[in-house]
Amino acid sequence: MDTIETLNFPRQNLGIFPTPIVQIKKLADYLSGPQLYIKRDDLSGLALGGNKTRKLEFLIAEAVIAGCDTLVTGGAEQSNHCLQTAAAASVFGMECHLVLRGESPTTPNGNLLLDIIYNAKIHWAGDGLNEERVIKLVKKLEIAGKKVYFIPFGGSNSTGALGFVRSTQELVRQCKEKRLSFSHIVFPSSSGGTQAGLVVGARLFNQKFKVIGIGIDKEQSGVLPVAENIRQLANQTAARFSKEIEFSLKDIIVRGEYTGDGYGVVGELEKEAIRLVAAREGILLDPIYTARAMGALIEMIGNKEFGKSENILFWHTGGTAALFPNAQKLIGGKN
Ligand SMILES: *Cc1c(COP(=O)(O)O)cnc(C)c1O
Repeated sequence: MDTIETLNFPRQNLGIFPTPIVQIKKLADYLSGPQLYIKRDDLSGLALGGNKTRKLEFLIAEAVIAGCDTLVTGGAEQSNHCLQTAAAASVFGMECHLVLRGESPTTPNGNLLLDIIYNAKIHWAGDGLNEERVIKLVKKLEIAGKKVYFIPFGGSNSTGALGFVRSTQELVRQCKEKRLSFSHIVFPSSSGGTQAGLVVGARLFNQKFKVIGIGIDKEQSGVLPVAENIRQLANQTAARFSKEIEFSLKDIIVRGEYTGDGYGVVGELEKEAIRLVAAREGILLDPIYTARAMGALIEMIGNKEFGKSENILFWHTGGTAALFPNAQKLIGGKN
């Protein structure tokens, strides 16, 4: 397909791209499985880095075009998306309002500390965080005269997902340069913008690699199953391109067996992955997303899901600031 088409959507520079692809040979040798590489989106260059930078480049561009002066979004207390949004707002001289789950802690740490440094206005939602709660704040700010740009949880709509369509184009170029090709891309999947963008990108650029999301959240009754949510988002994203593309559920691989005790609960799988990757490669994983996905990949390698000659790309989606508020869970107790 014409590589110009993805560049035609309005975009603002927020990150430093391309992010590096590095081989992690010591870990691969230790696991005696396939060849392993990491895409270092944790070095994306905005705040402390991460996958949300790519989505925000397209989201902010829409906000700028609409003449907005205020960004509003929401998430968990330690949301990486909220931090990246707060940082992006600073870069563009906008006000940032964040609706966060929970109550104000006595000592802000990790991403929340950085939200405050970026001067974001925090609204605590207790355990009642949902999209309606955030929209209510949008209405209130509009009545107060603000020109608000609303960003959904995780920046995951078809505009945000364009960031990962573009990342596929970036990857294709890097592979060509390095004479590399990957059989599988593995990464943590939650609100779905990352996976939706990658599957659309793979189709647009005729890539053969399998896109494997590691589910981070347990399936909940009353909300769309994770894979179905991603399928719909992928179709909405694909509809923005001129090529006919339609995804069915079998195109969306989300491994749901690694969600442990649920979102944000740091277990042995995550702790072991953090230790192993730090000790063997000097690379830090975050406890909520990338450690869970890496722990899953390590188990999948142990189960011989990949051939030895295959090249696996682990997409490091960032989030390392969440190590600090999880110190007790990571090294407290028996260590
Ligand atoms: C948000 C996030 C993800 C998940 O990306 P989605 O696009 O929401 O699926 C993975 N890793 C980290 C570190 C994140 O912050």
